[in-house]
Amino acid sequence: MEAIRAQKITKRFGEVTALDKVTLEIAAGELFFLLGGSGCGKTTLLRCIAGLEKPTAGTIHFGERDVTDLPPHKREAAMVFQSYALWPHMTVGQNIAFGLEERKVPKDEIKRRVEEALSMVKLEGYGPRGIDQMSGGQQQRVSLARALVVKPKCLLLDEPLSNLDAQLRLEMRSEIRRITKENELTGVYVTHDQSEALSMADRMAVMDSGHVVQVGPPEEIYRNPCCSYVAGFIGETNLLRGTINGVHLSTPNGNLRGRITVNDWTPSEGVEALLSIRPEAITLGDPNGATLIGRVRERTYLGNLVQYAVELRDESKIQITEMNPRRIREAGETEVGLHVAPDDITLLKD
Ligand code: ATP
Repeated sequence: MEAIRAQKITKRFGEVTALDKVTLEIAAGELFFLLGGSGCGKTTLLRCIAGLEKPTAGTIHFGERDVTDLPPHKREAAMVFQSYALWPHMTVGQNIAFGLEERKVPKDEIKRRVEEALSMVKLEGYGPRGIDQMSGGQQQRVSLARALVVKPKCLLLDEPLSNLDAQLRLEMRSEIRRITKENELTGVYVTHDQSEALSMADRMAVMDSGHVVQVGPPEEIYRNPCCSYVAGFIGETNLLRGTINGVHLSTPNGNLRGRITVNDWTPSEGVEALLSIRPEAITLGDPNGATLIGRVRERTYLGNLVQYAVELRDESKIQITEMNPRRIREAGETEVGLHVAPDDITLLKD
């Protein structure tokens, strides 16, 4: 395992700036996620780390080594792709052995290492099978084995689970985490899927328009998003707009107080800002003493939870999720109170 350090990486494709002075430090042995909307630059950053793209400016270090100008095979990093990129006319074993044959590893050792890689991904005995006789999930395991067989220090994964069905995706989450930890690999993982990132990552970076917006462990990013983009991208949230009035935000639905999540921001009097409240942080109850007041407009019962759309007094809507619902409220004209613990309201820059 090896730390990865990207320093001021800029990557331009003609007029498009895909990455703009991105700096990131990924610790040795960490499973690190790159997340963000389509086109934010996460694949380009992963490909720069892999050596498949050359940055326009900036440097990449693996441990103490400056790898910026090294070709991919000299970086000791292996990549796993969404498409698996396996050779369909070869057997499972031949696919896995390919990288070792290219490196002129002796035959006996290739045989032993292919077996070892198959066992790491729980495919013992599948070596002689044709790739077309393997299911999608098994093919993804073969592509992982092929990456592991060269004993890389870093494993780079580009949406490795996107082509699998929902159940297999869930199973493979813990498998990939186990494999990176057992092999002491530094992992960099690109995904669109925030629940994949929240459930698997040691830390993650949320990117937007070629910039890293926030870096931290999943709980930190979810609980203390630095801005409305991160709050809305990771999980769902309700945003209320208002103007700063002393320690409160004046909104059409009353004066509310929010927790500030970033150290370097002191909101000035009169500026516009946003409050973020997660749907699961709200409970419905008596209007007396409530944080907000509204009327239930829609409800969706899902057994373990119920989702409400509540219209506030200014006619804006708020989403609420109640777990383990005992009492279901119907849509109607009666006012209900929305109760939120002060700690669950965050104040964000507009
Ligand atoms: P997605 O989630 O849609 O895969 P992404 O976050 O991985 O998006 P990138 O693929 O890194 O985004 O692309 C970042 C920007 O760079 C986009 O505007 C994209 O169109 C552009 N881009 C990426 N590769 C190339 C290329 N080879 N030539 C020209 N533009 C490119």
